Amino acid sequence: MQIRIKVLKLITLLSVGVLLSSCGGAPQSAETTAPSASQQIFRWKMITTWPKNLPGLGTAPERLADMLREMSAGRLDIRVYGAGELVGALEVFDAVSQGTAEMGHGAAYYWRGKIPAAAMFTTVPFGMNAQEMNGWLHYGGGLDLWRELYEPFNLVPFAAGNTGVQMAGWFNKEINSVEDLRGLKMRIPGLGGEVLARAGGVPVVLPGGEIYTALQTGVIDATEWVGPYNDLAFSLHTAAKYYYYPGWHEPGPTLETVVNKAAWEALPDDLRAMIRVATRAVNEDMLSEFTARNNAALTTLVEDHGVLLRRLPDDVLARLREVSDQVVAEIADADPLAARIHASYTQYLRDVRRYHDISEKAYLEVR
Ligand code: CA
Repeated sequence: MQIRIKVLKLITLLSVGVLLSSCGGAPQSAETTAPSASQQIFRWKMITTWPKNLPGLGTAPERLADMLREMSAGRLDIRVYGAGELVGALEVFDAVSQGTAEMGHGAAYYWRGKIPAAAMFTTVPFGMNAQEMNGWLHYGGGLDLWRELYEPFNLVPFAAGNTGVQMAGWFNKEINSVEDLRGLKMRIPGLGGEVLARAGGVPVVLPGGEIYTALQTGVIDATEWVGPYNDLAFSLHTAAKYYYYPGWHEPGPTLETVVNKAAWEALPDDLRAMIRVATRAVNEDMLSEFTARNNAALTTLVEDHGVLLRRLPDDVLARLREVSDQVVAEIADADPLAARIHASYTQYLRDVRRYHDISEKAYLEVR
């Protein structure tokens, strides 16, 4: 194996030599030139919103760092920090903005207190699913708007993960009517939290690592987190017994990687290309992992742990939908850029639905 790697490295070196020669310029000896950007080693820190190595959300930044180290042959060497190791879970945006770390992994909706329109780059209640978000971001102008939104904060954002449709969450009592939402203290961030507030509930924002204790001790009555795979890892089934679906509030949340602008600009072109490609790979990889693991985790929760699976009643969903429409419409009022983001998202959703209603949706209904 060792020998094979050495042979491969030799072949790579020879190929580079041939390429340089074929470009016309005589390759300079490494001993006679100063280290250039193409030889420099960049040692970066990546801070995250997730507990270290949490399945799915926490392993994605680790995979991103591993991938970049391998692709760059060690020239981009990133050390990953879990929530609280270097900065708190909800301090990632500010810390990367200020250059405390070069890179971060989290979710844009955690920053909506600072930038209301940021929530649209994670997820919108009753909005796009994962497939549609990826289409909007990468082929529908979404990512360009996201870059523009983060530019004043010295941040370059990338989509770097998606969980697919989430679960509505864990509840200590059944939800049988809109009235049952009244006074309900629930951990639910993003626009979904605002919707719950207007439907009579009390939304609480807590980072993942603090959810279990809050639910167990009765500080909150309910929580959403992700879906079976991640919720099982947090043992949320030992703190509440009703597990509701569908995740109306997070139908396909995009996770983000942010890079400090100065750090980004200091990179040579090839390392920037590697970040663009590796974030796209991690973006897809996380969705594949959740898709492959959620079902087995759901079976364990229901069959081994006696979790009671419930669907939210239609009238509750209808009320949440009605309130969501108001909340999402109000984002456009924040400022002209927020209005453009809102217009782009809603127009894209309208367009993509026209075909998805007769393709993805129609197919799932007949399968
Ligand atoms: Ca969630």
